[in-house]
Amino acid sequence: MTIGIIGAMNEEIEALLSSMIDITKEVKAEIEYYRGVINGHNVVVCKSGVGKVNASICTQILIDRFQASKVLFTGVAGAVDPTLNIGDIVISVDCMQHDMDATALGFKEGEIPFMDRFIFKADDALITLASKVSDEEVNNQAIIKGRILSGDQFVANREKVKQLFEKFEGSCTEMEGAAVAQVCSMNNVPFVIIRSISDKADGSANSNFLEFVKYAADNSYKIIVGMLERMS
Ligand code: SAH
Repeated sequence: MTIGIIGAMNEEIEALLSSMIDITKEVKAEIEYYRGVINGHNVVVCKSGVGKVNASICTQILIDRFQASKVLFTGVAGAVDPTLNIGDIVISVDCMQHDMDATALGFKEGEIPFMDRFIFKADDALITLASKVSDEEVNNQAIIKGRILSGDQFVANREKVKQLFEKFEGSCTEMEGAAVAQVCSMNNVPFVIIRSISDKADGSANSNFLEFVKYAADNSYKIIVGMLERMS
């Protein structure tokens, strides 16, 4: 069994790579895949790059070429739920694309035309495991299970955040999760997305992101490693 682990940026995968043994690297579609072992599990760790297209390509290759039978995503996000603070954890219950908009044709906001679903549910067992690990390993941060919103936009606007919260009841916003979720769903592969808050997606998001990306990425990494420790 191979577990695929995706991060979008270096900060999100570098700690994982240093926890891995027996590493071999393969490049496909300009994306680097690192096969190896973490806590006795065969894993493939990769950096998708930013955005939904990169994340989709990366996930399909993980499934087809590396036979990933589970997919975990580790990374940072902007808070949408106003109660969340820097470093807090969101475990995906489900994911959707907040920038999918065919409302002019009569579809609902977020709805993918001619598809039977647009909210992609994460795997219950992986959610339960992530939540148990977070409770045990992450101190002094809120841990919530919620909806992850993805779009090809770095959100840095208070008004937009408010809209995202009211329209879609999202917990956080980022740029890859819903793409990973959709590809996994279409291939029947269980997944969970773990995000730690790097910014509040408001006017300070740009500077907060730069300041806290490392701290937040490390919080998310701890959960992934804890999950691998406890998986049978
Ligand atoms: N590496 C770039 C920024 C990448 S974009 C830089 O250094 O400037 C931000 C990345 O973090 C994306 O992968 C996205 O998933 C996540 N992210 C964090 N905060 C976000 C926000 N407010 N809006 C959208 N994505 C956010």
